[in-house]
Amino acid sequence: MTNQELANRLFPEVTTTPAEMEARYPERHLPEGAKVTRIAPSPTGFMHLGNLYGAMVDERLAHQSGGIFYLRIEDTDRKRLVEDGVETILSVFKRFGLNFDEGATLEGDKGDYGPYTQSERGFIYKTYVKDMLAKGMAYPCFCTEEELAENHRLQEENKENFGYYGKYAIWRDRPAEDVEAALEAGKPWVIRFRSQGSIEHKIRFEDLCKGTMEITENDQDVVILKSDGLPTYHFAHVIDDHLMHTTHVVRGEEWLGTLPIHIQLFDALGFKRPKYVHTAQLMKLDGTSKRKLSKRKDPEFALDYYFSEGIPIDAAVEYVMTLLNSNFEEWRRANQTAPLDEFKFNTKKMSGSGALFDLDKLSDVCKNVVARMSAEQVYDLTTAWAEDYDTQLYGLMTRDAAYTKAILSIGRGGKKPRKDFGVWNEVKTYMGFFFDELFAPDYTQMPSHVDGETVAAVLKAYMDVYRNSEASDANSWYEEVKALCPQFGFTADMKAYKAEPGKYKGSVGDIAMILRVAVCGRAQAPDLFSCMELMGKERVLERLQAAVR
Ligand code: GLU
Repeated sequence: MTNQELANRLFPEVTTTPAEMEARYPERHLPEGAKVTRIAPSPTGFMHLGNLYGAMVDERLAHQSGGIFYLRIEDTDRKRLVEDGVETILSVFKRFGLNFDEGATLEGDKGDYGPYTQSERGFIYKTYVKDMLAKGMAYPCFCTEEELAENHRLQEENKENFGYYGKYAIWRDRPAEDVEAALEAGKPWVIRFRSQGSIEHKIRFEDLCKGTMEITENDQDVVILKSDGLPTYHFAHVIDDHLMHTTHVVRGEEWLGTLPIHIQLFDALGFKRPKYVHTAQLMKLDGTSKRKLSKRKDPEFALDYYFSEGIPIDAAVEYVMTLLNSNFEEWRRANQTAPLDEFKFNTKKMSGSGALFDLDKLSDVCKNVVARMSAEQVYDLTTAWAEDYDTQLYGLMTRDAAYTKAILSIGRGGKKPRKDFGVWNEVKTYMGFFFDELFAPDYTQMPSHVDGETVAAVLKAYMDVYRNSEASDANSWYEEVKALCPQFGFTADMKAYKAEPGKYKGSVGDIAMILRVAVCGRAQAPDLFSCMELMGKERVLERLQAAVR
């Protein structure tokens, strides 16, 4: 049986040739320097920060260069698939604002280089596999699990490298009769690549993130087509990224270990190698030691977490950019309101050794991003979040949108906007007291050095003033508050009070605090005059009265 006969026997249905494939997926016509990138997730239903991290690199490389960013679905590992896995991928990336120019969509493929789902590309892989068989570059292997396990046992015993190579490559040079007999017997087979590599050889390799490295050639006859007729990752990566004309492959550093296989396949098939960007693992500080972010231990690793917590998408994206490029924060300080797209992303500014994820830092970024938003934006984004995750808040916020937006406008804009919250699930605590349904005053926050009787007296005295108050701004309001001081032995002069607190029973600050705790239910609140204005006289008087104990 010649190689060609073997190829025909294993793939009688395949009539296409690699040349036809090459013609079907011609070079892309793109401007000089335009990069073609892709993300190639598996539809397992679980999307994590690593997916977003890599996708942002892909998106920036492509769109910053006038290139193409596309989505390919890697569903060859049938055991890991979940039913709406593709939907999840599409909706998550959409929510993070990553727009694909090409690729799989729920309405089918978009673009000329499809199918973009690997399980639909069987005829393409098989076309190449058949040709490789005919050329002797690949061969069928009929090994059973037991035989492979026995190889492993022997290798362990002899302290040799594991795998399918050299004398352990049982079917590499088997006589045609054996192959014939195995086929006759109906034994299941896989197709292996016939490696010409040796671990004695080193290759210099330039990674755009990791820098220059030396890697050892692959000597393993790896499986390229599995017994279910689907390709392995190694083979699909090479065929797909070649035919789809990917120029830059961005993927996690866990793929560095098998990179020699990929390089070898590109070379053996006569394909131009893409450039690689192997991204470092996302790490986190656990006590004093660093460890990888983990699906099991760290809820923030899952992208769902960002949606359910109400982390503003813009902030999450902005934070990931700080992890990706060391000069981003500096750029942001100098360009506070510029759109993110104006930042020039550069693989040279990526850390090759691991990016440290820090929830406190994320929280700061969230606060800064939200502080730059308009009340209208905060309203829209918070209500969109609350509609899914906090229906009570949603109901209250939308009952009187103008009231809610006015609340959100307090302290917004200007040079030093307030940074009370950065995450939508903090909004309820921040402004809950504006709604009677959520008002739960904590009177223990009244100034501790003012006795209860005086607190009550202050409240009563202020109610009298407030009923006829003419105050039209924070200053005139404050004057009225100050005027209450003498009758309680308090001083309106904060400086004098700080210098000699023993001389007075209290200060204007205490009066303001008493009013704040009564009206807002707590010591921390935005500008009290603005709060009172918004709440209206009736409600404020009710609350002042309720605080008299
Ligand atoms: N399906 C692979 C993964 O999810 C893709 C790796 C790649 O981008 O090549 O890890």
